[in-house]
Amino acid sequence: MATILDGKALAERARAEVKAEVAELGHPGLATILVGDDSASEIYIRRKHEAANEVGIRSNDIRLQADTSEDELLDQVAELNGDSSVQGILVQLPLPDHLDEAAVIRAIDPAKDVDGLHPLNAGLLYLGRPTLVPATPIGIMALLAAYDIELSGARAVVVGRSDIVGKPVSLLLLQANATVTICHSRTRDLERETLDADVLVVAAGHPALVTPDMVKHGSTVIDVGMNRTDAGLVGDVDAAAMDVAGHMTPVPGGVGPMTIASLLRNTVRAVRLQRLAFEFPPT
Ligand code: NDP
Repeated sequence: MATILDGKALAERARAEVKAEVAELGHPGLATILVGDDSASEIYIRRKHEAANEVGIRSNDIRLQADTSEDELLDQVAELNGDSSVQGILVQLPLPDHLDEAAVIRAIDPAKDVDGLHPLNAGLLYLGRPTLVPATPIGIMALLAAYDIELSGARAVVVGRSDIVGKPVSLLLLQANATVTICHSRTRDLERETLDADVLVVAAGHPALVTPDMVKHGSTVIDVGMNRTDAGLVGDVDAAAMDVAGHMTPVPGGVGPMTIASLLRNTVRAVRLQRLAFEFPPT
């Protein structure tokens, strides 16, 4: 039976640390923008605000109508960029189809980009100088570190190549000297790849995409998936893989809480970077 990678407990400790730092930093501000009324997005936003308020981050929950124009949204982002009481800005994704996500992300001041999605932040990560990095990958790396999972020389397989999870976590694993394989929907033989993984990260958004027979005995499995089904919230890995893996995250209680804690950490990091007269090149 796998050792459970207890994201809930680790996230609690991380939040306590952030709380102390936030008090020292004079209670920074985090602003989120939610466009439309997607129910999953509303839940995520609510959780982020609850967590922020709990640690003493002032949070501003901006809601815009689903038919908000791109110009209106860009104006709102520009206003937050110029607001000295706001140190972190997050635009909840996905945006409604008529809005250009890339253009909106590009408009966020990179020094306030707590989701780490601005091309400058993504580029710094690519160059091996992670600065503001998406919260889920940071949370995953913190979990692996907390349980002393060996990464140097390990074979890491990441299922999923999104900008918010798959790609950034692959780069962080590479930086930690793992040998990294990235799988996606066109991967020919997923099982052949996953069976080779000492560390398997699954972020595909498909319940039980990875079954126990696809997991290498004794390996570390990070299940990022959050799928709402009739049976409740389930991951992308069949929970029975716990019998095969050496370490595994539960769903819920694994990566989810670490993501929220890492967002709070990113807000603190953004404040510190802004105070250090952020060395970003002019955009
Ligand atoms: P995306 O939909 O953006 O990306 C999914 C990725 O999985 C794509 O790269 C896709 O490949 C790949 N994929 C889909 N089907 C398969 C398949 N059958 N075999 C191999 N690869 C496949 O999702 P996200 O990265 O945003 O999220 C992934 C999951 O993680 C979701 O369940 C989401 O809810 C969850 N999540 C959880 C978080 C947490 O805090 N726990 C935070 C963020 C996300 P292709 O590129 O070819 O389409």
